[in-house]
Amino acid sequence: MNTLNSIIEEIKNAESIVILTHVDPDGDAIGSSLAMYNGLKQLGINSDVIIPEFSKTYEFLPGAQEIKKESNKSYDLAIALDCGDKKRLNGFNDYFENANSKISIDHHGVNTMYADLNFVNPMAPACSQILITVLETLGVEIDKKIGTCLLTGIITDTGGFRYSGVTAETFEFTAELLSKGVNVSEIYKKVLQTQTKAKFELTKRAMERLEFFEDGKISFTYINLKDEEEVNSSTGDHEGIVEMGRDIEGVEIAIFLREVEDGFKISLRSNEYVSVSDICLMFNGGGHIRAAGGFVSLPFEEAKEKVIKECKKHLK
Ligand code: 5GP
Ligand code: MN
Repeated sequence: MNTLNSIIEEIKNAESIVILTHVDPDGDAIGSSLAMYNGLKQLGINSDVIIPEFSKTYEFLPGAQEIKKESNKSYDLAIALDCGDKKRLNGFNDYFENANSKISIDHHGVNTMYADLNFVNPMAPACSQILITVLETLGVEIDKKIGTCLLTGIITDTGGFRYSGVTAETFEFTAELLSKGVNVSEIYKKVLQTQTKAKFELTKRAMERLEFFEDGKISFTYINLKDEEEVNSSTGDHEGIVEMGRDIEGVEIAIFLREVEDGFKISLRSNEYVSVSDICLMFNGGGHIRAAGGFVSLPFEEAKEKVIKECKKHLK
């Protein structure tokens, strides 16, 4: 039996299901989780989505109000979505570890194949796009609600249909949703265009601090805990800041450091040839060729120097 059919069988036989995704959940993480949740619900299958914290931006998604911060149940089946590495399962690894069966559905190139059944397609521009096939094979009808969740994942992970991973299926699916009455431009506006005031203030600070290295091939910027406190930011307000550097002419690698309690979270983006997921492997992280993240536990100046030095090695 192929992996997809085994996954379908596991889902249909499970007595209780938990849906998990990665820490710092983005639109694809939340959209995928809620699409799976709503899809199972349509089939009369109950499941829990556990996400301790997520951005207000995604509160409009169908099912978002039913997301649990934690649970004291143990589950028969755990489904991890959009998560390339077990370490990133929300710090809520126990739900995953304690489940009798473990499934991972993902699109990260450096997925560590940590589940019993791993359905991973690094060519897919979003985990949500892989779920179209999974849900349809399960017998779910992709209705307006599920379509809204899936499209949110696709729009956020493709930067609004702009990135090179976009496929014909991406547009075919979007066209199909349009004909089903899904308001594509409204979703686009909510998840990509409108930003909180705090996010704007953080972006402004990051922009003022942006520096170039290596003849403008590397851009560097950061925000620290004090910034977040001063602008009164909430979960997700730093999302996308790194793209500002990436979109400047001549930049190959954009670096964004975000201070957290015990060090700095690294976000890298590249334009043409550098595999930033390779660079992030040096920093206990991973991701995709053009978008990846990691972590460094050093004081700011040392962290900055170390990340820039590592990036330089990958330039032509
Ligand atoms: P971002 O820079 O937006 O936080 O993350 C970019 C991409 O890299 C996302 O696909 C994200 O899941 C992945 N990523 C970010 N941080 C890490 C990390 O620490 N480990 C791994 N394996 N992937 C990461
Ligand atoms: Mn994703």
